[in-house]
Amino acid sequence: MSLNLVQAAYIIAAVLFVLSLAGLSQHESARRGNALGIVGMTIALGATIWLAVERADNPGLTLALIIAAMALGASIGLWRARVVEMTGMPQLIAMLHSFVGIAAVLIGYNAYLEPGLLTGSEETVHLVEVFLGIFIGAVTFTGSVVAALKLSARINSNPLMLPHRHLLNLVALLVSAGLLAWFVMSHALLPLVLMTVIALAFGWHLVASIGGGDMPIVVSMLNSYSGWAAAAAGFMLGNDLLIVTGALVGSSGAILSYLMCQGMNRSFISVIAGGFGGEGATFEGDQDYGEHRESNAAEVAELLRAAKSVVITPGYGMAVARAQYPVADLTARLRKQGTEVRFGIHPVAGRLPGHMNVLLAEAKVPYDIVLGMDEINADLPDTDVVLVIGANDTVNPAAVDEPGSPIAGMPVLEVWKAQDVVVLKRSMASGYAGVQNPLFFRDNTRMLFGDAKEAVESVLKLL
Ligand code: NDP
Repeated sequence: MSLNLVQAAYIIAAVLFVLSLAGLSQHESARRGNALGIVGMTIALGATIWLAVERADNPGLTLALIIAAMALGASIGLWRARVVEMTGMPQLIAMLHSFVGIAAVLIGYNAYLEPGLLTGSEETVHLVEVFLGIFIGAVTFTGSVVAALKLSARINSNPLMLPHRHLLNLVALLVSAGLLAWFVMSHALLPLVLMTVIALAFGWHLVASIGGGDMPIVVSMLNSYSGWAAAAAGFMLGNDLLIVTGALVGSSGAILSYLMCQGMNRSFISVIAGGFGGEGATFEGDQDYGEHRESNAAEVAELLRAAKSVVITPGYGMAVARAQYPVADLTARLRKQGTEVRFGIHPVAGRLPGHMNVLLAEAKVPYDIVLGMDEINADLPDTDVVLVIGANDTVNPAAVDEPGSPIAGMPVLEVWKAQDVVVLKRSMASGYAGVQNPLFFRDNTRMLFGDAKEAVESVLKLL
């Protein structure tokens, strides 16, 4: 295959990636989008391997090494993909972002150490690419590792509050800029190594200082960083397709982060600068909201039988309990009796953007009754019953009523405005942000304790 054919394959792959992203933006076309992405990636891999083998001094050995590395990586990847629980996906994705980061760092050092033929301004540009590629890669690497540890609850999700933390970040950036100048002038290894250490610490600090409630934005932000790290690797390797792919991931991740910031009423700049969460929070966490009211399956079945309109707001607990299938059956049952059933999905419900939508689609809940928070909130005052299934932070009125709360200002599903609210969860425990939920103590709220799957199944049986 000539270089021209490889370039043509790259262009086809790039177009398929764009079409794939377009497909992934809608429920209905998501499968097609995924398939187009797979075809694009297969073409890209095939062309890249061909090019690498054709350019190699020892094509046989190069091909054997590539196949061995891919077989090893693919076996680990397939095994992880098969065993991972849906609830373990966020930390797995964060870990995968960290691999892109460390790959960019290694490619950067390789590009620096390889004897180059470039001179003059071309060499300067190359050195800047190497420096920036390693910087972005190192930040992505440690940032993603901290995110994975926080998401898997191996480290505390509370924000790390170092004194002068914003100043520390600024100093790290300024020192790195100075090291860039030193590196470009001297071509020495030392400034590169010093910058790598600073960037690793910077990435760690950036994510460690973000509070639990803001983690969704961090996950999509690291997705974006991993794209930019891949694009930087593309520049260092002179691979156009990697630049295009990295830029697509980087910009779509940035757009998603921006939309999530809007959805959560957070400042985009504050979050990407690190350390937003917890600032200004005066919440003590020991408020006395009074008594909660416990319910049982029979009472809930009775409520549902009499209801004309029901809204279901699922959250992370539905994913843990794998309750989406009985929830879909309950929906079908209620619709059969003539009840209007709709779902209200908060943009950060669960632990991944789109987590609830994926689960509901898996259980074949019709797309047209799955609405976003903005679409459903206005209808909640006219709703007879809201079933809160394993959701907590995303339905917490403290976000609206308590300015000192760590989640203050975050738009939530205003379920308390409905006539009756039933909360399905196992205990009175708080949600991901660690904040008590005054919803549980409202007069129109009843708690149905137990595993969400079992609870929904018991209600369904009684219906
Ligand atoms: P939360 O994480 O706030 O709460 C989930 C609730 O589910 C818990 O209170 C828990 O209570 C209950 N639960 C757990 N297991 C079960 C079970 N088997 N059966 C029934 N209930 C169960 O959920 P939300 O979805 O409302 O909020 C998501 C939170 O996660 C937000 O704070 C968001 O910022 C954060 N986040 C979101 C990400 C995203 O991209 N979507 C990424 C990272 C963080 P109990 O133990 O009493 O059962």
